[in-house]
Amino acid sequence: MGCCGGGRKIRQAGMIALGFARLVADKAGITTPADFVAGRLEACRACDEHTWLTRVEVAEWLLINGVDVAKKFDCLENIPKLPKESGIGKQQAGMYCRICKCLCAAAARVPEKKCLHPQGSRWVGYRTAEGPEKT
Ligand code: SF4
Repeated sequence: MGCCGGGRKIRQAGMIALGFARLVADKAGITTPADFVAGRLEACRACDEHTWLTRVEVAEWLLINGVDVAKKFDCLENIPKLPKESGIGKQQAGMYCRICKCLCAAAARVPEKKCLHPQGSRWVGYRTAEGPEKT
């Protein structure tokens, strides 16, 4: 699948911003997570493609892969995966998706966001505002 340029990049940026905004609002107690969020996060925790990284580790990865990220921002699944880390003994590590490079807690809050697991979505069945995910 090829990358499709400007419109998709803007949409991707919008989804990332929306996910982080909802995460902040939920953590602050201003809103409560939508029904599908817990199920999606449970699927991420059980998934072989999650990883636990600190912000420093993400920044280090970005230093190496930043050019690819900029070029393929609309299809981050097509650049090298994030490193696999267990997170055991790490303070302040967050759960990231090695495929889409998103912070799972933010991505799971965006109804339009898809799980891009190479063997098929792990989020199938968790309802979103648009109905159950189909692919
Ligand atoms: S978004 Fe999908 S592929 Fe990524 S960690 Fe979650 S379940 Fe796994």
